[in-house]
This record gives sequence, C-alpha cells and structure tokens, in this order.
Amino acid sequence: DLDGFKEINDSLGHSAGDRVLAQIAHRLREGVGERGEVFRFGGDEFIILLPSGSPSRDAGIAEELIRRVAVPLWMEGEQLGVTLSLGSVRHPEHGRDHDQLLKRADIAMYQAKGAGKNVHLRFLPDMEASVTRRFAMLNELRNAQELGQLVLLYQPIIELRGRRIIGAEALVYWDHPRHGRITPSTFIPVAEEHGLIEQLGEWVLEEAVRQSATWRSRGLMPMRMAVNVSSAQFRDANRLRNAVDRVLRRHGYPADGLELEITERQIMTDPASSVATMNALSDLGVAMALDDFGTGYSSLSHLREFPLRKLKIDRAFTDQIDRDTAGLAIVRAVVELGRNLGMQVVAEGVEREAQVAPLLAAECAQVQGFLFGAPMLAS
Ligand code: C2E
Ligand code: MG
Ligand code: MG
Repeated sequence: DLDGFKEINDSLGHSAGDRVLAQIAHRLREGVGERGEVFRFGGDEFIILLPSGSPSRDAGIAEELIRRVAVPLWMEGEQLGVTLSLGSVRHPEHGRDHDQLLKRADIAMYQAKGAGKNVHLRFLPDMEASVTRRFAMLNELRNAQELGQLVLLYQPIIELRGRRIIGAEALVYWDHPRHGRITPSTFIPVAEEHGLIEQLGEWVLEEAVRQSATWRSRGLMPMRMAVNVSSAQFRDANRLRNAVDRVLRRHGYPADGLELEITERQIMTDPASSVATMNALSDLGVAMALDDFGTGYSSLSHLREFPLRKLKIDRAFTDQIDRDTAGLAIVRAVVELGRNLGMQVVAEGVEREAQVAPLLAAECAQVQGFLFGAPMLAS
C-alpha cells in the first residue's frame, strides 16, 4: 500500500493521481523483474507474487521496492513523496487459501504503516492478536459515549510573563472499565478510521463549551476554550459550522471565547477548501489555531491565507530549548513569523523551569505544559 497517495489525489486531482499510480506500478515491475508478478489490487494497493524462495530473498526484494518507490517523483512542477508500506506472507506457513493469505498480508502491511511507514514487515501470529484487540476496542468505543465513559480533561494555557491562566485546551480521555484511563492518541485514530469521530467531536464541543460557560458564569475568568477538531470533521464543513453555531447558541457563549485547533497536516491536504472552511467558521466569530506547528508541511505562502489567531509550536521544538540552540532559533523564528502575520504563538510541552527563560527571551507570550499544569478534571 502506498503512503501519502490520498493526499496527492486530494490536492492534485484524480488524473494526476492516476499518473502517479502508473509510474509507481512501472517502478514495481522494474524492481521485481523476471522474479515474479505485480498486480494492482485496487486503489493504491498492489500485490506481488513470488515463487517459493528464502525469506532473505523476499526481504531483499522488499527493500529494493521500497527504495525504488521512495525516489522523489515530479508532477506538475511539484516534487511528490510517495512511499511504500509492505507486508508479506508465505505459503503455506501463513495460510493455504488466498483469503487467508491476503488477510494476513494486509495485517502485516497495516503494522508496517503503524511502525512509521516506508518499511517492510513479515507477518507474525502476534500481529493478529493486536488486530483482534483493536477490533474489541472499536466495538467498545462505539458505546463509550453513551455509557458515560468519555471524560474531558482541561490543560491550562498560560500567559508566560504574568504566569496567568488565560484559557484551557479540552482533551478527551476514555475511562475504560477494565483498562483504566486511555489517552486520546490511542483511540482518536480508531474513531477517525471508523467514522465515529464526528459524533465524538460534537460531544467534546458541547461539553467543553458547557464547562467554559459555567466557569464564566461563576466569574472565574474570561476563559478561552480550545477544542481539537479532527480532519474528518473539518472536511464536512457545513456540519461542523452548524454544530459550532448550535452549541454557542445553546449556552449563550461568545464565539470569540472558543478556539478550534486543527493540525497543519489537515489544512495542507487541500489548502483551498481549508481556507473556505476556516472562513466560514471565522464568520461565526470563532478563532482558529494551528496545532503541532512545524511538524507538517506548511507552505509559508499558504499560511497567510488562513484566518488563524494562533500558532502552536510543537513540543518537538520546545523540548530541548534550554540545551539546543537550533530549537531556540526555530522558536524565535516562529514568534517573529507570528508577529508579522498577526498571530499569537504558543509553545507546547513546557516541562521544566529551565525552558522558561529562553522562551521569555524569544518573546513567546503563551505556553502550555506539565510545568504549569497537566490535563486535569474540571473540578
Ligand atoms: P494536542 O492537541 O497537540 O494536545 C497536546 C498533547 O500534549 C496532550 O496529549 C497533552 O497531554 C500533551 N502534553 C501537554 N503538555 C505536555 C508536556 O509538558 N509534556 C508532554 N510530554 N506532553 C504534554 P494527549 O492528551 O495525549 O492528546 C494527544 C492528542 O490527541 C492531542 O494532541 C489531540 O491532537 C488529540 N485529541 C485530544 N482530544 C481530542 C478531541 O477531543 N478531538 C480530537 N479530534 N482530537 C483530540
Ligand atoms: Mg491541540
Ligand atoms: Mg499539539
């Protein structure tokens, strides 16, 4: 299965996508040569059949194919990075019929994706167990919201100079009856993959705004509430806009007290439609923040077209800011960029007091991190 193909299809269109597929197919056939057969299975999936041979020969061929596919490809003046995630099975060890073999090759391929993509993994029986667990998780996740197992934790967002709380980010956790509190990075991807995220996301939105409205009504502070939005929600612009509008009305909550966080990756797959979605949300008065900034592939020329209030610098850059001059240089540059584009800048993942001085020196006004507060229950 190709990695990154969907993004190409979404951004350059299907006919460019077809040409990319044809070029990749050509590379695969060249790589396999006389040693076997290459088939396109559907979408961006290919099947390669080799006569019986040693596992090390298979591994060698897999390596070669991965290397060939990873060579950059040019299309409409853009350099595209497509890679290959490859899973392999052996007959008859891993199955006697093609259903069984395909299913297990698929499992190994998904593990290869999970292991960071651009890699070959051989099927192992353990892999099947982890897929079964994932499936059990999916079934339980379907009911988690109804059973009241989802909780929101809030992480304070701090104005650094005065060390004041100026807002909070809502993070959804799953209190599982047997496994305890499960972090969002474990189950959000499952929810996204299986169409559960829209509903889950709307629950989060409702709950976070309700909580923030309660805090405000108690006069605690003019809280700004940040809510993460998944790409699936973001793609269905009308539904998202209506959900936001409804929630704000229901709680009589001021739109500018709500901030929606989207990641760089999400908006860059289709910058034009992202601008439209963000404008529709901005028209409601809601603010937009770019999450995990620096880890995606923002083109700086697109950045200024987005109606963003905030850039959130990813933890990867603030992590070593007291020890690593490159990290500090990047934070400085982003602060400067934010200033010129009229955007606020937040440093994520501040864990140590030693990170504070360099952040102040870089004039980064806002921070978030365990040093000031981990995600916590509202009360
Ligand atoms: P994110 O939006 O970038 O959230 C920040 C993550 O960094 C949180 O992880 C938070 O616990 C962690 N973090 C904060 N401060 C520190 C620190 O000082 N050190 C370290 N090591 N980590 C810190 P968490 O809660 O596991 O959330 C992971 C991701 O899950 C979030 O990343 C967000 O993308 C996603 N997520 C969480 N809640 C939701 C939600 O309601 N909807 C959607 N679509 N995604 C969500
Ligand atoms: Mg976030
Ligand atoms: Mg982040």
